[in-house]
Amino acid sequence: WVKESGRGAFRFHQPRKDVDLLSRMRLDHAMRQALQDGQFRLHYQPQIDLRSQAVIGAEALIRWRDPLRGEVPPGEFIPVAEESGFIVAIGDWVLQQAVQQAAEWLRQGRRMPVAVNVSALQFQQAQFVESVAAVLKASGLPPSLLELELTESILLRDAEDALRRLQSLAELGVCMSIDDFGTGYSSLGYLKRFPIQRLKIDRSFVKGLPGDASDAGIVNAIVQMGRALKLKVIAEGVETDAQRSFLAASGCHEYQGFLFAPAMDVQGFAERVWPH
Ligand code: C2E
Ligand code: MG
Ligand code: MG
Ligand code: MG
Repeated sequence: WVKESGRGAFRFHQPRKDVDLLSRMRLDHAMRQALQDGQFRLHYQPQIDLRSQAVIGAEALIRWRDPLRGEVPPGEFIPVAEESGFIVAIGDWVLQQAVQQAAEWLRQGRRMPVAVNVSALQFQQAQFVESVAAVLKASGLPPSLLELELTESILLRDAEDALRRLQSLAELGVCMSIDDFGTGYSSLGYLKRFPIQRLKIDRSFVKGLPGDASDAGIVNAIVQMGRALKLKVIAEGVETDAQRSFLAASGCHEYQGFLFAPAMDVQGFAERVWPH
């Protein structure tokens, strides 16, 4: 149970309570079993163009129903997997699964870009770029139909190394976005230097729209900055019509959120997005 503390240094992660550590170890063990037993699934949340209302993509979100615990939210097990390192195996599975699904949709004549969340530890693997290339090649999916969602912390940890990796991925032809934008430490300089296509405005800033003046100001600023840098801007967590109207008026390009649909299994997604 070591946790990277940056610059290649490791420190022991000190849990608040022993029982905490024990339950996290149990959860980690259960996750390893779950991957073997095929208990993980991917759900897909539609992403909508604010102007045309068209579905322009899908974010893959992992789901896990444990026989004892029931449905375990990713916010609970992903941090544990990040801490133990098991996130690398989970991340590989998610990438492969999502790319195969997008390739399957394409074979059905349904062009649907998929976005996959990438954890810092996964991104830092020496083989990460090669594994993305291999998964794309095996599936036959055009790289432009895959988007990798990265967080600000990934990009800041070792900026030069991250930049090299992003450039290799860009050469491959995959798209990249910054997830939860505005919640991390941002050096705005990296937005200019890094070959990314999209900013995802974090849900926490969308929540107070349109009434909260701070949220409105932050969202307008992100949208303006995105436009100046020629980046697409997508808002997360849109739940109300008033939020959507504000975003459309601000010049934001796209949104995802419960207002249109939550993440759904493949069948639910198809029924919602391609009703016959
Ligand atoms: P995220 O990538 O920022 O994903 C957005 C989260 O917001 C998802 O939660 C989604 O279900 C939720 N959401 C979407 N629209 C709305 C809305 O209108 N209202 C509200 N209240 N929530 C909304 P979820 O699926 O529980 O995932 C939570 C986080 O767990 C994700 O945040 C992501 O950081 C992580 N995660 C999920 N799947 C994966 C994965 O496959 N790999 C990795 N590394 N992380 C993942
Ligand atoms: Mg995401
Ligand atoms: Mg997000
Ligand atoms: Mg978020």
